Amino acid sequence: MMDYHAPRVRVRFAPSPTGALHLGGLRTALFNYFFARKHEGVFVLRIEDTDQARFTPEAEENILSGLLWAGVEPDEGPEQGGRYKPYRQSERLLLYAVYAQRLVDQGHAYYAFDTPEEIEAMRKRFATKENPSPKYDASTRGEMANSLALPSAEVCRRLDRGDEHVIRMKVEPGERIAFEDCIRGPVSFASEDIDDQVLIKSDGMPTYHLAHVVDDRTMWITHVIRGEEWLSSTPKHLLLYRYLGWEAPEMAHMPLIMNPGGKGKLSKRHAQANGLPVTVEQCRAAGYEPEAVVNFLARLGWNPGDDEALLSLDDMAERFSLDRVGGGGVQFDVDKLGWFNQQFLRTLSVGGLLGRAAKWGGTDFYTRKEHWERIIALMQSRVAFARDLPETCTYLFPDPEFDPDTYDEQSVKKRWASDSADLLSAYADRLGELQDFDAEQTETTLRALAEDRGVGAARIIHPVRLALSGVSGGPSLFAMMGVLGREACARRIRKAVDALGLRLLTPDFPE
Ligand code: GLU
Repeated sequence: MMDYHAPRVRVRFAPSPTGALHLGGLRTALFNYFFARKHEGVFVLRIEDTDQARFTPEAEENILSGLLWAGVEPDEGPEQGGRYKPYRQSERLLLYAVYAQRLVDQGHAYYAFDTPEEIEAMRKRFATKENPSPKYDASTRGEMANSLALPSAEVCRRLDRGDEHVIRMKVEPGERIAFEDCIRGPVSFASEDIDDQVLIKSDGMPTYHLAHVVDDRTMWITHVIRGEEWLSSTPKHLLLYRYLGWEAPEMAHMPLIMNPGGKGKLSKRHAQANGLPVTVEQCRAAGYEPEAVVNFLARLGWNPGDDEALLSLDDMAERFSLDRVGGGGVQFDVDKLGWFNQQFLRTLSVGGLLGRAAKWGGTDFYTRKEHWERIIALMQSRVAFARDLPETCTYLFPDPEFDPDTYDEQSVKKRWASDSADLLSAYADRLGELQDFDAEQTETTLRALAEDRGVGAARIIHPVRLALSGVSGGPSLFAMMGVLGREACARRIRKAVDALGLRLLTPDFPE
């Protein structure tokens, strides 16, 4: 039952547009999206682009297209609009300046004129064995060039002159900042562990800390659901809410995604070294279907009650609850992603899989639709990726251009015996005499030939498969023959007899 007195749930995904959309980012977006849907709330996309040095213009586009690819459409955002627009921080600068000024006026923030060299010198000056890198905080700020330490006339003079300065928040020591994290339970930090964080940088841009607090409030965000890496900054944010006289939203910090094997946070280096896809774009390029990716990501930390079932976004949203999100790090197991992909492909109709495979081009899917449908019916349970169809199944077309030109060396060694050529020629002859060329007839004929020659059926089956496909694995031989048709089967068998028969009978035949 909805409580109609409670504010409507509003959550946000707030990426910094610094490059590709990472899978960790998509997981954050997904959890927020589920939470919004579950509570009939609103899912906001906000672009946190105040760090101009790290900003790349294509990144926003990547983020939005990555979300849409996964089926996660924002209700409000830079493209969608909404009543709390604009949704790019770079378009909201005035707002941050206003609130920073309010903090200064009320004594919760101050101007600081120190150069990086002066700050470095301070760290050296105050360093002790126990505290090798002192912070800019209550214990050091009195010694620095800021509006708390300098006479006010001097501060006015410097500001009037346009001296470079930042605005820092003033954190008082001796307090415990405690809150209830929706995932982790009670969490608390000592205020003396927090430095006097910069809120406005010397170029006038806000830092993430100030900007996102102002935005979360002015966009009426009710729940902040984000990665664990932000947990240690949360006390600063809670102080800012208090200083500004605002109620803080609920906080939920999702577990870290760890390298496979559980050692450390999933790193770019580890991923690259092990060929793991870590961005949405890489997953897409590797051929993973969005449904598989979202099922995989949703389970990185959340337990939907069934570890294996493929769920739709709606089903997941329906089941979602922060109570079932764990706090401990979760391993990135790429095999699981592959498994979900294969499971998903199996759930598709033949037409559905055709549509997915067609995206990968290759032998024209729509002009030869009927033949592709027969191939798909045969291969659906065997392919790991839709792209495998155009990449590895062209041999299932009867055209001579798809006849194998080479035969897998290992398979030849294992399967082609001294009597193979003879057995296959005889089989090709018998195939020519069949009334109906279907799976049943081709199989009966093969077994009868084996019996007539006093050999096991496998002695004919394996070399025939090699002749038809060039390799030893694949779908049921007789079903495959049905798809290829009589002419192609006979032609390929005779071609293999010519190519392989001679070679093996005279093993030392000069190449
Ligand atoms: N811009 C931050 C990021 O890149 C947002 C963190 C938050 O959700 O508060 O992840």
